[in-house]
Amino acid sequence: MCDLKRALFKDIINVFVSIPKGLAVTVKNWFFTRPAVTELYPEERRELPERYRGVPSLPVDPVTGRSRCIACGACARICPEQIIKVVPEKGEDPKDRKPAEFTIDISRCMWCGLCSEVCPKDCLKPARDFELACYKREDMIYKLEDLMRLGGILKPEPETEDKKEN
Ligand code: SF4
Ligand code: SF4
Repeated sequence: MCDLKRALFKDIINVFVSIPKGLAVTVKNWFFTRPAVTELYPEERRELPERYRGVPSLPVDPVTGRSRCIACGACARICPEQIIKVVPEKGEDPKDRKPAEFTIDISRCMWCGLCSEVCPKDCLKPARDFELACYKREDMIYKLEDLMRLGGILKPEPETEDKKEN
């Protein structure tokens, strides 16, 4: 038998073997149901891990109605991507510092969390929102109000032992 005929014969045998093999997999999955590995997103959403760290955001203080940011610029200085821009507001009271402008270019954020770590007011918190897709790159430059919306309302801090004693 020449080589060509041998290869053709092998192919024909393979067809007759692979079809029942494939059907066996289908039947096995049909009758012996296994839990689905797919999710019907967005109707079904997986619970995020408690320590999930998303994009940085500026939660709103429920007492003052604004972010606790004092526009010190520490986050902007530490950011390895240099995507944070903070412009302090020139108010009358130097003790009441707040940002006039605060932007983060989310498209370049690598969610390293360094900005949150250095914040002296602990006001730059990783958000839990991950659905940030949009059509225009400019829309990924989040302004102060976007970051506050993303952050939601600041949760009250748990009481420490020192506070309880006082
Ligand atoms: S998470 Fe990292 S990359 Fe993103 S803004 Fe903060 S410091 Fe910059
Ligand atoms: S480090 Fe904190 S307080 Fe300072 S500018 Fe950034 S967010 Fe505001």
